Amino acid sequence: MFSSLRSQLTLLLVALLVLLSLVTGYATLNTMREDSEQQARQILKVATNVFMQTLEVRSDQLTDSVRLLSTDFGFRQAVATAEQDTIKSVLENHGARINANIALLFAPDGTMLASSIAISDTSTLQQHFRQARSQQGASAGIVNIEEHAYQIALVPVRAPQVIAWVGMGFKVDEELARKIQTITGLDVSFSQLTLAQQRVFSSTLTQENLRNFVADLTAVSLKEQQIQVELPTNYISQAFALDQQQQLWAFLHLPSERWLTNYQQLRSQLLQIFGLGLALALVTAFIYTRGVTQPLYKLIDYAAAIGNGAMLTAPKIKLTEIALLANTLTKMRTAILLRENQLKEQAEHDGLTNLGNRLAVDKHLPTIFAAGSGQLLQLNIAKFKYINDSFGFTNGDLLLQQLALRLIPNEHIKLSARLSADEFLLVLAENITEQERSVLLQHIGQPFNLGGSVISLSLVYGSYFYQQGEQDVNKVLRRLDIALNTAKKQNLSIAVYQSGQDESHQRELTIIRDLPIALHSGQMFIAYQPKVDIVTQRSVSAEALIRWQHPQLGFISPIEFILLAERSGNISLISNWMLEAVISQLASWLPFHPELSVAVNLSADDLLDETLSSRIQIWLNHYKVPVSALSLEVTESAVMQDTGKVINNLQQLKNAGIKLAIDDFGTGQSSLAYLKSLPVHELKIDRAFIKDIEHNQQDELIVQATAKLAAGLGLTVTAEGLENQAGLSRVLAAGCQQVQGYYFSKPLAADAFSQWLGAFSSQKAHFFNAATDPAIPADAVQ
Ligand code: C2E
Ligand code: CA
Ligand code: CA
Repeated sequence: MFSSLRSQLTLLLVALLVLLSLVTGYATLNTMREDSEQQARQILKVATNVFMQTLEVRSDQLTDSVRLLSTDFGFRQAVATAEQDTIKSVLENHGARINANIALLFAPDGTMLASSIAISDTSTLQQHFRQARSQQGASAGIVNIEEHAYQIALVPVRAPQVIAWVGMGFKVDEELARKIQTITGLDVSFSQLTLAQQRVFSSTLTQENLRNFVADLTAVSLKEQQIQVELPTNYISQAFALDQQQQLWAFLHLPSERWLTNYQQLRSQLLQIFGLGLALALVTAFIYTRGVTQPLYKLIDYAAAIGNGAMLTAPKIKLTEIALLANTLTKMRTAILLRENQLKEQAEHDGLTNLGNRLAVDKHLPTIFAAGSGQLLQLNIAKFKYINDSFGFTNGDLLLQQLALRLIPNEHIKLSARLSADEFLLVLAENITEQERSVLLQHIGQPFNLGGSVISLSLVYGSYFYQQGEQDVNKVLRRLDIALNTAKKQNLSIAVYQSGQDESHQRELTIIRDLPIALHSGQMFIAYQPKVDIVTQRSVSAEALIRWQHPQLGFISPIEFILLAERSGNISLISNWMLEAVISQLASWLPFHPELSVAVNLSADDLLDETLSSRIQIWLNHYKVPVSALSLEVTESAVMQDTGKVINNLQQLKNAGIKLAIDDFGTGQSSLAYLKSLPVHELKIDRAFIKDIEHNQQDELIVQATAKLAAGLGLTVTAEGLENQAGLSRVLAAGCQQVQGYYFSKPLAADAFSQWLGAFSSQKAHFFNAATDPAIPADAVQ
């Protein structure tokens, strides 16, 4: 909720303001409270002074009256007579005159001679008297008499010696309390406080407050002459002792509300101000943060727009720092645009040659195709790898750069690009003539000078004539590539794409793609073609040939897919599959055809596989098939790749007891002498020499010579591809020992082959009898 900058800023500002208000509010209220309390205490002090003064005035008046009485002749005489009744009536008369509540007479030694009221305990009075006597003159004070406070004045009676002391007093009572209340405006209480009892004898407090007061008094011990106590509840009271024994106390009560109200009023005012301030602060914070954040939000939108590559003008911002940021963003946008363009430029260029690259081709070809028809060339440097190997990569790069210089677009070249390390694309100008083109290619192909040495590159071209409106750049480039491959395969310097090549290319890709799956999904099976010993007229061997029935493409000839498998590096999959399948088939035939031996074809790659021999032996062991039941066929060229690995492999196979035949003999660069050193048992003369042997004397001579030499080396000679009886006598005459051909049988499915073997011994007369034609089994598989 508070994740946005704006709400956080607002929150911060408001929190600061609240904190500030709280602190100042607290401080102000505190001082105000202290102030009010101070004022209250001051009021109490002033009232106390007023009270004291009132008491003093009363005491002075009392003293004056008593002094007057002491000098009265009649009174003195009455005292002198020491007549009790007279003294008493005089005292009463005079006391009544000044409204005294008590009148007393003491002998000079302190004996109380008369009193207007009965007093049981005179001890406090005696004490007061002794004090008065020690002062030699009049004395006034408050005395506790019979559980009541009296303000008493004592004066000596002289005649002229002191013959007695006369005293008069006022009761400290509710009347006095009311009087003081009228003057000070405060409630007044008088009380007696001793350890034994706490008693309020007069008070102006209400009943309830008085009850509280009395209750609270018990808990209070007043040790000083004057003290302020917070009694009763909601009052502050000033207490002060009236008598010397500190048993009589007066209290002036100031209700707390008198000063608290004031304080509370101030407090509520302050709270109102605080609330108003907060509201104001909120509004201010809202407006302020909007002022700060709105430009920021604008800036964020702007930055996002830059990120999206949209072209917005920078927002107008007044806040200096943010405006600076906006400025920076604008500069950044310009820099980004510049850099983007540079990158785009670079992305479409080849770093080494500075020609266009594949991206540039994808970008520009559609426009070129839309404009009209013309010719595309794909140039490849044949065997560029060897140049790198022999001259080093640096020189290789220099050569590429020199070549690229000749490919820079000009009047004859519309577009040029480097497609891969050693391949370039050229789009020729639409109006280029045949002659101009050959001059151009000649110029491109001229030797290069590399640090003094002259180097000729062998350049191969694929060519494609595009039509106006061609849509598919990829298709066009693929066709160019096909044309280039054709040129390479056929050793041409240039090959033009022929319509339909693309489709065959597609077919090849499909075959290569589907091959691994086909092996494991039952699309492949094996055909067995018998080999017949034409000398003994027996058949105990055969060649295993792979068959592929593709679900979409139909039957695919091994000539087609074996080549592709070899080129795509997948041939070992086929060889392994064949070896295991043939060995397991041999295992099931073993009881019926114990002498049978089947040959499996291997490719060049298989001979480089060091595990071949051990794998074959594992399978043979596993299926319990004797090693004599399996033989292998390899072509001359595969054996001739004279690497240590191949020789080693062949030796291992020989050591294992596996027989080896040289296939298609006569088609490669044959070297019978070389064969001598190889562990080979059989030589298969290629069909090319056999198929027309009855008509072609030269073939016959070649077969004769080959058979003779091979026999000399101890090899079995097999004639491949014999189709008719006429040839049979020729190959026999030429010295061939075995024949494999349609004449005896086409390759057969496993069951049919097994049947054929069974039938052959009984029907062989047909094959070798010149009068009758052999019957070819109906279920022959090609
Ligand atoms: P290849 O090894 O020379 O096999 C003999 C080919 O000649 C077979 O063709 C066979 O059907 C054919 N042939 C035999 N007698 C006659 C005949 O009298 N007249 C004619 N016109 N043809 C005859 P296929 O089965 O189409 O095999 C073609 C080639 O495919 C084989 O030539 C071999 O190089 C390769 N191939 C077949 N199966 C395998 C295999 O399992 N592994 C490998 N590596 N290559 C195989
Ligand atoms: Ca073969
Ligand atoms: Ca062959």
